[in-house]
Amino acid sequence: TATTAAEFIDLEDRHGAHNYHPLPVVLAKGEGCHVWDVDGKHYYDFLSAYSAVNQGHCHPRIVDKMVEQSRKLTLTSRAFHNDQLGVYEKYVTEYFAFDKVLPMNTGAEGVETAIKICRKWGYEKKGIPDNQARIIVCGQNFHGRTVTIISFSSDQGARDNFGPYTPGFESVPYGDIAAMEAAVGNDPATIAGVLVEPIQGEAGVFVPQDGYIEAVAAACKKHNVLFIADEIQTGVARTGALLRICGDCACAGHCERQPATYVRPDILILGKALSGGVYPVSAVFADDEVMNVIQPGQHGSTFGGNPVACAVAMEALEVVRDEHLIQNARTLGARFRAEMQSLVDQYPGLLKLVRGKGLLNALVINDSPDSDTAWNFCLALAEGGLLAKPTHGNIIRFAPPLVITEAQLLEACGIIGGVVKKM
Ligand code: PLP
Repeated sequence: TATTAAEFIDLEDRHGAHNYHPLPVVLAKGEGCHVWDVDGKHYYDFLSAYSAVNQGHCHPRIVDKMVEQSRKLTLTSRAFHNDQLGVYEKYVTEYFAFDKVLPMNTGAEGVETAIKICRKWGYEKKGIPDNQARIIVCGQNFHGRTVTIISFSSDQGARDNFGPYTPGFESVPYGDIAAMEAAVGNDPATIAGVLVEPIQGEAGVFVPQDGYIEAVAAACKKHNVLFIADEIQTGVARTGALLRICGDCACAGHCERQPATYVRPDILILGKALSGGVYPVSAVFADDEVMNVIQPGQHGSTFGGNPVACAVAMEALEVVRDEHLIQNARTLGARFRAEMQSLVDQYPGLLKLVRGKGLLNALVINDSPDSDTAWNFCLALAEGGLLAKPTHGNIIRFAPPLVITEAQLLEACGIIGGVVKKM
């Protein structure tokens, strides 16, 4: 049996599909914002499993709930009712202020579900002629890896040789209000929806100009088109608000008060941190007018809405409230960007800029996307005790668990600063 890092990596290399290119670190334990590798070396986790572990690794309350529910009932399928699903559905729809939820497991499934609901609404409520529904998406989007989703990706690596592609999607440049208004205004009678990430995470943490989301929502409203927000990465406190579409409101949950800045989507997709990274849980939210187009037998999933998922998600959302993760992400996010900005000012040859919201941030390396500078930077960070991963070549995303304290954050900034000085 394997015991060393090299042996574990070799096992993956020999027996697993090569669909990822991980940093050469083999983790064995996690707690809060900390992880340890198989040799016992400690790291700050500044990726949080792509923003799934917002509540911190192995949060004891969430893990206890999972164990407790797992001893009672794990899976019924939706052929029967169970005593967790309805309780969860009431809880989560109140938490996010929608009439209804459709529970799924992964983010990509949530996106597929939203697309299906949107198209069906387009035909049955809006009156789009058969098979003509169009959905507007954004350039450089990331919504997952299914055939339909990669059909509207602009990433060649994600698309090449996976055709034929699903038709019915049109892409406009992200953050461009005029382009979006023009697209939604072009034969709107056949447009069912617009699918947008309020911040593009995988693309490299692109924060659109102020007013962009409001403008997209307004264009949708004007033409009776559904505004679909993919908050799988940005949702659940990550950006210093419960959802990114809450704008700059920092209340503990947007059911407490509807902030003036809140742009309400017709369909909201969540995943990742909905379970604190403990279990795959995703969800699609809509009001009755939209959600009721789905009837028995038209959509589903064996594991979607299972009792463990329901119990885990409720506890994960309670933790967000009880531990003030929205406020923490907001305050520490500002502190982190200030620390990084001072590095950018001191080392403009290496660092180009820092950007982000809350604790979803990116440091852009001043080198071409084909260079290996960012990769080497991340290797040096790992050596120093901090884990982060480059995206799109020269962009490094920094997204620690939201339970991180100010002292821990500053220690982590010290590690980053130390590596910058040496490079
Ligand atoms: N949508 C967004 C915005 C994401 O960031 C991701 C994952 O990174 C997904 C969808 C896909 O989620 P999953 O990997 O759980 O399918």
